[in-house]
Amino acid sequence: MLTLDNITKKYRDKTALLHVSLELDCGIYGLLGPNGAGKSTLMNIITGNIRPTEGCVFWDGTDIQRLGGSFRSLIGYAPQQQGLYNSFSGRRFLAYMAALKGISKKEVRDEIERVLSYVNMQEAADRTIGSYSGGMKQRILIAQAILGNPRLLVLDEPTAGLDPKERVRIREQIEKLAGNKVILVSTHVVSDIAPIAGELCFLRSGSIADRGTVEYLCAKYGDSRDVEEVYMHIFGEEGQK
Ligand code: ADP
Ligand code: MG
Repeated sequence: MLTLDNITKKYRDKTALLHVSLELDCGIYGLLGPNGAGKSTLMNIITGNIRPTEGCVFWDGTDIQRLGGSFRSLIGYAPQQQGLYNSFSGRRFLAYMAALKGISKKEVRDEIERVLSYVNMQEAADRTIGSYSGGMKQRILIAQAILGNPRLLVLDEPTAGLDPKERVRIREQIEKLAGNKVILVSTHVVSDIAPIAGELCFLRSGSIADRGTVEYLCAKYGDSRDVEEVYMHIFGEEGQK
C-alpha cells in the first residue's frame, strides 16, 4: 500500500503541492487535473525522483527514502516526456531499461518478450522508436514500466496526444494490468480513465479537491451519471487545458 503523508512541494516561491495526503490500496486510480495542477510533480515524488519540501511517502508503512534500491525494483514509471531514445529500437530500449532495473541476464530475454506481447508490440520491436506513431511510443513506454512486474505502476499522461482510438487501446491495456498492484494514471481527460478506475482523485492547484468512486462523485455533484460533469464542476473553464 502507498501512503502520502502531508506532501508539500515548493519550487522556489511556487507551491506545486500543498498538504497532499492519500492512501492507495491495490487498484486503478485516476489522477485528474488540468495543466499545472501538480500531477507530474506528485508522480515524481511518489517514484522518488524528486524529494518533497515537506511530508513523506510510505510503501507498506516504510518511508521510501529508507527503502532505497529495493523501492526502485518495486515501481514502474512511465514519465510524461517521450522521444529521448529515438535512435534505439524498441527492443534495445527495453533491454537498456531492464538493465537499469537490475533484471538478471538470465531473465531479460523472456521478460522483454512478455512486455512486448502485453502491449502488442512484438512486430515493431526491431524498428527505431523514432519511426513509431504516438500510440506506439506510449505503448513502448508502458512496456518498460511493467518490466519486472512492479507492484506500483505510475503512468503520467499515457494518452496525451493520442487519437480517440489509440486512447481506448491504451485504456484497455491499463485495465489488463490490474491485479495485485497499485496503478496510478494521470490525465486531464476524464473518459481516458473513469471507465476503468476504482477511484478518481481530483488535483486542483496542488491540493486534492475531492476523491472517490465514480458513483460517489456523481451522486455528490449532481444526479447525473456523467463524471465529465463532476470534472466541470470542480475545475470549471480552466479544466479544459
Ligand atoms: P501537471 O503535471 O499537473 O501539469 P506539474 O506538476 O508539471 O503539473 O506542475 C505543477 C506546477 O509546478 C506548475 O505551476 C509548474 O509550472 C510548476 N513546476 C513544475 N516543475 C517545476 C520546476 N522544475 N521549477 C519550477 N516550477 C515548476
Ligand atoms: Mg504533467
